[in-house]
Amino acid sequence: MQRIFSGVQPTGNLHLGNYLGAIRNWVRLQDQYECIFCMVDQHAITVWQDPKELTRNTREVAAGMIAAGIDPAKNVLFNQSTVPAHAQLAWVFNCVARMGWLNRMTQFKEKAGKHKENASVGLFAYPNLMSADILIYKATHVPVGEDQKQHLELARDTAQKFNNDYGVDFFPLPEPLIFGAATRVMSLRDGAKKMSKSDESDYSRINMTDDADTIALKVRKAKTDLFPMPHSVEGLEERPEASNLLGIYAALSDRDKTEVIHHFAERQFSEFKAELVDLAVSVLGPINAEMKRLMADPSHIDAVLRQGAERANAIAEPILKDVYDIVGFLRP
Ligand code: ATP
Ligand code: MG
Repeated sequence: MQRIFSGVQPTGNLHLGNYLGAIRNWVRLQDQYECIFCMVDQHAITVWQDPKELTRNTREVAAGMIAAGIDPAKNVLFNQSTVPAHAQLAWVFNCVARMGWLNRMTQFKEKAGKHKENASVGLFAYPNLMSADILIYKATHVPVGEDQKQHLELARDTAQKFNNDYGVDFFPLPEPLIFGAATRVMSLRDGAKKMSKSDESDYSRINMTDDADTIALKVRKAKTDLFPMPHSVEGLEERPEASNLLGIYAALSDRDKTEVIHHFAERQFSEFKAELVDLAVSVLGPINAEMKRLMADPSHIDAVLRQGAERANAIAEPILKDVYDIVGFLRP
């Protein structure tokens, strides 16, 4: 069977973009692939994380994945730092990938902002750790949102260069799996920015933990324009906020965007927003309740992650040993 790897940073504020662009697709893939899902805590600390919050958020993301329908008995679910081979392979990749490649990564530019000199070395090297996350399992497919496409191309380049440099046919070139109606959910405050956990404004996103009142308030306040509801997809790219809300509706209802546009064409924006709230609440409400139930018993989540780590280590350790042999590290 082909193998999938994917991860989420336990940085809090798990949001609708993570759900529609990633987690929901993972739930749908778990029957077709062998799946490895990871809370990437080592990626999280590339920007400052309060230690207590990081611990809590790691459990919360695990709870979110399980509540959304990921079966921890069938899939491998764990947090990254419990499998040392990720960081060990990342070091080898730090020596394979080129500075020039990493200099082109747009996520670093966006996250480092104007203070590039002040960004952590980890934030710059982030894509190499991500390549290691995938390749330490020789994963063949990586379901992600569109924002991660560039990093995945770098993972392929790194795998290819490793194979060439050492004259081996060792790493597969992992394929991105980017699909669904919401590969890039945008901020509710700014249609040009993606919805992010790290956005300062909580009004920019719908969190998986938001209650019905909060969702209603955020959707009501969501930026729109002064035009009426669109009649077709034509010209919609000039209306990013309206396009985003319609896209969210389509994804949440598993319908085609054009169909949704036709359905609301003669209606008021306020009516559309009210229906969007009901839909979001009906999808997220049960997940939210299950997350709360799971979070009430942290020891159960820890036990699930411990088991996941054991299974992940069992796959990763032999692959790391092979890498060390290929590189020529003496194992006396
Ligand atoms: P951060 O701002 O801290 O980077 P994030 O919101 O980008 O957080 P990640 O943990 O980096 O979340 O990403 C987890 C998964 O969610 C990845 O597969 C990513 O591609 C996907 N994802 C993140 N944001 C969106 C979005 N706005 N739309 C669709 N998918 C998204
Ligand atoms: Mg991100």
